[in-house]
Amino acid sequence: MPKSIVIVGGGTAGWLAAMMLSDVAKRKGWGSKVSVIESSKIGTIGVGEGSTAVFRQMLKHFELSEEEFLRETGATIKYGIRHRDWRRVGHSYDGPIDDPALVSPGVPLDTYAVAAGRPVGEAHLFQHLLSRNRAPVAVKDGRSIPAGPFHHAFHFDQSLAGAWLRKKAKGINLIDDQVKGIETGEGGISALLLDSGARVEGDFFLDCTGFRREIISKMGAEWISYNGMLPVNRAMPFWVDLKVGEEIAPCTTAWAQKNGWIWQIPTQDRYGMGYVYSDAHTTPEEAKREVEAALGHEISPRNDIKIQSGRQKEAWVGNCVALGLSSSFLEPLEATSIHGTIVQVMMLAEWLDDPAGRARYNAAVARQVDDFRDFIRFHYVTERRDSAFWRDVSASHPEFVKDRLALWQTRMPEAGDFEPFPLGLPHLQGQLYVPVLNGLGHLSQAAARQAMAKVPALREKARAVHGGLVAEYARAAAQCLPHRAWLQSLAE
Ligand SMILES: Cc1cc2nc3c(=O)[nH]c(=O)nc-3n(C[C@H](O)[C@H](O)[C@H](O)COP(=O)(O)OP(=O)(O)OC[C@H]3O[C@@H](n4cnc5c(N)ncnc54)[C@H](O)[C@@H]3O)c2cc1C
Repeated sequence: MPKSIVIVGGGTAGWLAAMMLSDVAKRKGWGSKVSVIESSKIGTIGVGEGSTAVFRQMLKHFELSEEEFLRETGATIKYGIRHRDWRRVGHSYDGPIDDPALVSPGVPLDTYAVAAGRPVGEAHLFQHLLSRNRAPVAVKDGRSIPAGPFHHAFHFDQSLAGAWLRKKAKGINLIDDQVKGIETGEGGISALLLDSGARVEGDFFLDCTGFRREIISKMGAEWISYNGMLPVNRAMPFWVDLKVGEEIAPCTTAWAQKNGWIWQIPTQDRYGMGYVYSDAHTTPEEAKREVEAALGHEISPRNDIKIQSGRQKEAWVGNCVALGLSSSFLEPLEATSIHGTIVQVMMLAEWLDDPAGRARYNAAVARQVDDFRDFIRFHYVTERRDSAFWRDVSASHPEFVKDRLALWQTRMPEAGDFEPFPLGLPHLQGQLYVPVLNGLGHLSQAAARQAMAKVPALREKARAVHGGLVAEYARAAAQCLPHRAWLQSLAE
């Protein structure tokens, strides 16, 4: 059992790890001391604003108040992602998160919807809340009533969320200093050497130093690049103020452009936005002009980040684990980064004291990030050919993407197409793939109709359940409070 866990880096990854590992160390009786070394001279990444449902589950696990989180960090609710102009210019589709089948196990609602030519999100509460810009609560007789059993996500300012987590993490030994070097012994790292001249010993180390990858790079770690697989390689973040009284959309917008896509993430007073683009197809100056033409106003880019998509071949080397940006990075199209970090810490908590833990952890993280990469790649199989970027992308779809799409032309995606993740932890499954595939026109109505025709009794059941859910969710969403008004009420 590690008696001393040392986390280097005080960004979202570092503080999530500190909170979660100190909790597990207490619960398992490890008696470990947890320290965070962060450098006030080096900022955090300053972007990263969309979470997945796992973040909310984590708040619930720690009995942290969601209302307090929303109030103190200016966060907003996210039910999913609106994909604009991906399939073709002028077309839009939504990808609601969490699993709508939760309330109707065994009923093939997606197959029914595709056969009937209806949007697959229609039988999901989140689609209705998203379309109506509603909060996840209604108020009756002065009491807040949750709209449904599903877990929504949040949009937040990464630095405010990180600072809030830092405040909530209890019993952590905090050191403000910069790690300059490592001392190694038989088991891996024995101590860290700090700028001040201090030396910090430990049994287990986490590298949460962001893109610097300060510790893991000294451990002989090998980086696997995804650059050949994903078509964009730069990100230009900027902010746009929300207008006074403007309703806040409870979804991320991913808006496809001629050379990539723009993210738009609302917090309570501004949009965090950015253009993720391919520098093989445009320059930073042209990219900025392209954004300004799309938005109809000037922007002030905060940065122009070179994206190195990929992951560590092994995120756990010796007694050191790379976490957060130092472990992997993908364009933020499905907000996989902070989600991935939380799931990784959950696995670490389970396997840190297991002799086979390192191999299990490395295999699981490799699979997790590779699966995220593949899912993102599917988003690029579109009808767009209106720029060299889209023509190049369409000419370079990997074989596995083509094979899978060919399979899903013959039948609907099945649970067996998505292998369960170790320890039953949340991962990509049909409910995330289906709205994207359907939105991009990759699901076959003929195949869905055939499947429905095979079992008429099931089709009738699906029709009845579908109709009931659509009506119930429309009614429930209409009763929920407007998103912005609800957020404002939390501050009063
Ligand atoms: C353009 C872009 C958009 C993104 N969008 C999303 C999104 O929508 N959703 C999502 O989930 N994620 C997103 N991410 C990823 C997300 O920002 C990160 O996963 C998250 O913020 C965690 O970052 P981090 O803690 O690993 O690194 P950082 O925030 O960079 O923190 C690094 C920390 O290490 C410290 N440090 C560095 N070197 C040393 C040293 N030598 N000694 C001591 N301390 C050191 C720094 O002081 C800092 O505290 C995005 C990232 C980018 C680049």
